[in-house]
Amino acid sequence: MSKRDYYEILEVSRTATDQEIKSSYRKLALKFHPDRNQGDKSAEDKFKEAAEAYAILSDGDKRARYDRFGHAGVGGAQGFDPSQFTGFEDIFSGLGDIFGFGGGARRSGPQRGADLRYDLEIKFEQSATGVETSVQIPRHETCDTCKGNGAAPGTSPTTCPQCRGSGQLRYQQGFFTVARTCGQCRGVGKVISKPCQTCRGNGTIEQMRKLTVKIPAGIATGQRLRLVGEGEGGTLGGPAGDLYVVIFVREHEFFQRDGNDLHCTVPLAFTTLALGGEVKVPGIDAEQTVKIPESTQTGTTFRLRGKGMPDVSGRGHGDLLVTVQAVTPKKLNKEQKKLLEQLAATLPEQKIKPSARDEDDDRGIFGKVKDIFG
Ligand SMILES: [Zn+2]
Ligand SMILES: [Zn+2]
Repeated sequence: MSKRDYYEILEVSRTATDQEIKSSYRKLALKFHPDRNQGDKSAEDKFKEAAEAYAILSDGDKRARYDRFGHAGVGGAQGFDPSQFTGFEDIFSGLGDIFGFGGGARRSGPQRGADLRYDLEIKFEQSATGVETSVQIPRHETCDTCKGNGAAPGTSPTTCPQCRGSGQLRYQQGFFTVARTCGQCRGVGKVISKPCQTCRGNGTIEQMRKLTVKIPAGIATGQRLRLVGEGEGGTLGGPAGDLYVVIFVREHEFFQRDGNDLHCTVPLAFTTLALGGEVKVPGIDAEQTVKIPESTQTGTTFRLRGKGMPDVSGRGHGDLLVTVQAVTPKKLNKEQKKLLEQLAATLPEQKIKPSARDEDDDRGIFGKVKDIFG
């Protein structure tokens, strides 16, 4: 029987990326794995065939040789031993224990505790000024009674008789050897004959912990604070993990943040824009004064330097950008109407122009329309 093409075996094209090759192999390996196909010789052959193809195509040099010379370039069928192939661990890591690969050997010594994440929502004002707040974190802490080893005071854990301390059991599975996490000691390599009463042998106990978190001024949504050593407690004397506090800042009804700059829109009577004057706008810590020059157009933006958000690393402030918007009175009384009519009578008649660019084109919009259609 002639050997099948490696690409054909892995059901990928000759131009497949490493990732495509890997994921296709993983799919096939799971499908034809001996554990799922007890006593099925053809599945075992397919499994072996896929492993061989993957061993070649996942290796850049071997793949190049195979592309040029075919099976002859990579030594043909002889001598391929899947149990010597190190690609398995990589492929199966993350699958946990379902096939007995165990995702690599567990260390039996002290282990660092897991990192924790805590999502903290704060008000916009708090992000501007900084705040000190307390959070309640449920976490596993190293047991004080046994110092984390899980054994009752006066006793200590002993070497696991099942795996003799290695934490793993090796056995023959079809054509190759697999290692499985030892069930008796759960991979630790040690067993506890007399468990600590406080933690029931776990080495850690769950506790609600109140922590004070200092949030610096200028913090933005998505930024996180790392509290070293405030995560889960370690086991067997290992260090604690870290706590990450992820910040979410509530939106503000008036300000929009853009980097360290703040934007806001202020509605003003059109008379204020026309005559000019000073207006007060709320700032992040104090009221700000904006000077409006005479004949200001609606939509004009004023930049107040250094009145925006403080930089979270303490390097100054952003700017506050105030955009003014003219408001037309909703209701006029008789007198106001008369005054406006008097004003209107003194204003020059306005020409409608298509855009500012055509300012020196005195034909106006109707002249342009005539040009196009006439
Ligand atoms: Zn304990
Ligand atoms: Zn064991």
